[in-house]
Amino acid sequence: MRLGRLVVASKNPDKVREVAEILAELGLGTAVVGDLDWPDVAETGETLAENAILKARTVAEVTGVAALADDTGLEVEALGGAPGVRSARYAGDDATYADNVAKLLRDLEGVEDRRARFVTVVALATPEGEVVTVEGVLEGRITTEGRGDGGFGYDPVFEVDGRTLAEMTPEEKHAVSHRGRALRALVARLRDDHDPAGSRR
Ligand code: IMP
Repeated sequence: MRLGRLVVASKNPDKVREVAEILAELGLGTAVVGDLDWPDVAETGETLAENAILKARTVAEVTGVAALADDTGLEVEALGGAPGVRSARYAGDDATYADNVAKLLRDLEGVEDRRARFVTVVALATPEGEVVTVEGVLEGRITTEGRGDGGFGYDPVFEVDGRTLAEMTPEEKHAVSHRGRALRALVARLRDDHDPAGSRR
């Protein structure tokens, strides 16, 4: 599969911005097309991969342009991997970022084991029906209160090496993040598929 023009299959402006920034860092900024629209895609899958593939396939079919979808979950050790695929709706169907963060901190009150990881599955689908998926993981821990005003979602309470993701610049976050890792893996995979000997030269 070639990485030509693509649309970011998300209606979350924070996510679209991050994906575009990371692709730009990888020299692929001009490949992203905006001003396309599509009907909302219900996230009915039971896994991040199912949802990412569903979104990418649907948006590629409707727009006629290759579509890149990112489905992300926060897996908290002490909560048995929750909220996971339900991270966006953790505090309820219409939950805001603040509602979800507040519920997470409440659920972890007094809990010593704060280990958590972000997992992103990225799916890239072509209008012809080809699909590639990759995963990116970031290990960290949940703080006891929010810090920083960068990023979005759970970033103020997700700490890596003493700093929350919301205390990092966008470039610092992308260098370590689940989303940065997934997108770098995607680009490497597409390059390899194209030039299988390239990595061995
Ligand atoms: P979804 O991938 O749109 O389903 O997002 C899942 C949930 O995780 C949403 O509540 C997002 O706000 C949150 N989320 C996704 N990516 C990130 C991130 O990079 N940092 C913090 N929260 C995130």
